[in-house]
Amino acid sequence: MIKDFKIELKCLFCDSVLQGDTEKEYLSGDLIKCQNCNEENDYDSLITIVKEKAEVIAKKQAEEEIKKMFKNLKL
Ligand SMILES: [Zn+2]
Repeated sequence: MIKDFKIELKCLFCDSVLQGDTEKEYLSGDLIKCQNCNEENDYDSLITIVKEKAEVIAKKQAEEEIKKMFKNLKL
């Protein structure tokens, strides 16, 4: 099984972790203001980056699981 993984949303400008408003649900087109550098991060750009990271992590985990499966095979 693929384990849960956590990806932090990071500011596109200064790379610090974004502290979004937990009460607010961000949608496409929204801007998320960085509390460190005050730049506004485009939601869609952030999502694109997160998706790419998620794919890399998911792929790595899948490869590990497959390796384990083969190890457990008694041929
Ligand atoms: Zn920033």
